[in-house]
Amino acid sequence: MKKAIRPSSLCVHEAHDPRSTQPHVLPIYPTASYVFESIDQGIDIFAGRQKGHVYSRYGNPTVEAIADKLARLEVHGSEIPAQGILLSSGMAAFTTLVMALLNSGDKVLSQANIYGGTTELLGAFAKLGIETVWTDLTDARAVEAALQKHSEIRLVLVESPANPAMQCADIAMLARLARHYKAYSAVDNTFATPLLQQPLLLGADFSLYSTTKYLNGHGNAIAGAIIGKDAELMQKKIWKTMCLNGTNASPWEAWLTANGIKTLPLRMKQHCENAMAVAHFLEKHPQVSRVNYPGLLTHPQHDIAKKQMSSFGGMLSFELHGGLEAGIKWMNALRFIPLVPTLGELETMALHPASMSHRNIPPEIRKQNGITDGLIRLSVGIEAVEDILEDIEQALEKI
Ligand SMILES: *Cc1c(COP(=O)(O)O)cnc(C)c1O
Repeated sequence: MKKAIRPSSLCVHEAHDPRSTQPHVLPIYPTASYVFESIDQGIDIFAGRQKGHVYSRYGNPTVEAIADKLARLEVHGSEIPAQGILLSSGMAAFTTLVMALLNSGDKVLSQANIYGGTTELLGAFAKLGIETVWTDLTDARAVEAALQKHSEIRLVLVESPANPAMQCADIAMLARLARHYKAYSAVDNTFATPLLQQPLLLGADFSLYSTTKYLNGHGNAIAGAIIGKDAELMQKKIWKTMCLNGTNASPWEAWLTANGIKTLPLRMKQHCENAMAVAHFLEKHPQVSRVNYPGLLTHPQHDIAKKQMSSFGGMLSFELHGGLEAGIKWMNALRFIPLVPTLGELETMALHPASMSHRNIPPEIRKQNGITDGLIRLSVGIEAVEDILEDIEQALEKI
């Protein structure tokens, strides 16, 4: 029998785990560190001779289970090996990737019409001596010219479909050009998810996610992911940078993300169907001047989207003939659709990029990239499509 200890010690000591069978659902491990059975085992784990957990900034079972699931999802249907790292947010994924791969003096090649936070972050890296060259990544000639002119480019970062104007860039073309000019290629695949688009299979080196959006889908956790196929690079550089920068995901957020992913296929199917119906409705409406949805034949990169995506996702944006003023009236007249500054959740949500998500992007850059003041972004949810369409229509009647 164990020696009886005093109540003040009993309270402090870790409780005995009475589990005798495996739980069916992945448990949350809210622990900062892990116990070693002996000092020899501790040394072996620290030295990498034996697998094991040490400290949750380096690794946590709940977090790793989801990172592994995402990596398998990323390359489904192929023999390509993939490794995943789950991070504290989508932004943490970008920061970690850039800090891991680039040095002062290196450059990034990207496009200005992406997630507003990414544009701002890349701008902020300039103070560390990492500058970004902006170009139109849908234009192969412009991309090659930029890579030739700036031999310091080490990373080509693309978002496709891009937030909020929905441009689609040819991922295979970008990956090929990046490799030719000795740069890495990374794709922000947040809008598509690995179910609709598989960047690693198209030749890219990395897929990046804000899992906060579609992968979780329920809007209750912030997390991000980096998926890559070079195991050594993932382990030695990216995982290491994550540990040192402390950009690791929390087990709670990982667990909520784990719950969300289970229904991803069902949700994406409904998002795609509903968004296509909304896009068709808006395209035919006399008050609407433009609809940006990759699934429409009128989308300038519809052919590219069709080539690299299995379906076109739940995101679209549009403009009214009445411009900004009409857009504001329309958004204020919505009854069913809330105004929420996020995307990829179950509910349909509207947002005004120029005043919200992209307000810190200089107006001239917004204009050059189709982020006009009158542009409205819709994250089309999985509700009954009739309810979504009826709300859109009744609000249009109020303009
Ligand atoms: C939300 C989002 C991000 C940032 O992710 P967080 O999880 O909010 O840090 C990056 N890229 C895209 C396309 C996004 O939608």
